[in-house]
Amino acid sequence: MSPILRKLADLLTRVRLPSEPISPIWLQLVGRQVPLVARLPAADQDRLYHIMQLFVKEVPFEGCGGLELREAIRVTIAAQACLLLLKMPYPRYARVRRVLVYPAAFVPKTQHSYSSGHMVSPDEPAAGQAWQSGVVILGWEEVQDGAHASDDGHNVVFHEFAHMLDAEDGTMDGVPDLDSRSSYHAWVTRWSAQFAEHVRRVEAGESTVLDPYGATNRAEFFAVATEAFFETPFELRGDQPDLYALLAEFFKLDPALLRRAAPEQATIKSIS
Ligand SMILES: [Zn+2]
Repeated sequence: MSPILRKLADLLTRVRLPSEPISPIWLQLVGRQVPLVARLPAADQDRLYHIMQLFVKEVPFEGCGGLELREAIRVTIAAQACLLLLKMPYPRYARVRRVLVYPAAFVPKTQHSYSSGHMVSPDEPAAGQAWQSGVVILGWEEVQDGAHASDDGHNVVFHEFAHMLDAEDGTMDGVPDLDSRSSYHAWVTRWSAQFAEHVRRVEAGESTVLDPYGATNRAEFFAVATEAFFETPFELRGDQPDLYALLAEFFKLDPALLRRAAPEQATIKSIS
């Protein structure tokens, strides 16, 4: 999109975040289910909850496979999905039409095969899926595991919603919709070099901070890199500093700084 069109679209669609009070039930649920949120400065937590208010109004959730959709499920997923948007202008996830939640990992009816390029019937259960048509499918058990283990580099909600950010420009190709055409070329050049480096290391059997699954293709690389960026920022920054810088540019935040802020906040809390 040209810079002028992009600016115009931004002006037309930019949404003022709600100023409604945050439900105490949400605070309790997120405090219990998504420990990463407690590490954010208070102002960022407040912004996150207001993005979540918009998100749950706009995106329909549906329980599948006998799962009764409870508030805890909606809020746990929304908190993690909206964390990716914390510093980005809203609205995002323009293509998300619906979130389907199964009790646990599910066997998808069909799945895109990266080796053949066709749709296939998989026999392995999946923790999540994101379709370019705007449907995100998640296993509730895996959503909770990913939220509770907030520093292992794996989070199915970050992964699937990273795919939806990637799909915003119409293609799920590992290159999300960037701010301007001038930054686009430089970003993509550096991004491609990081992908090539990851593939090379995986093929050579070297250990990497990023999950080797990221070498599957550029779309999976973006999703896996997003998981590591938010969950293991120090490790990713040490292992692939340019990849970390590119993600910090895109998400407009530096999770390593947030992680460093956590002990100070804990000290302040313990004094008061
Ligand atoms: Zn994926």
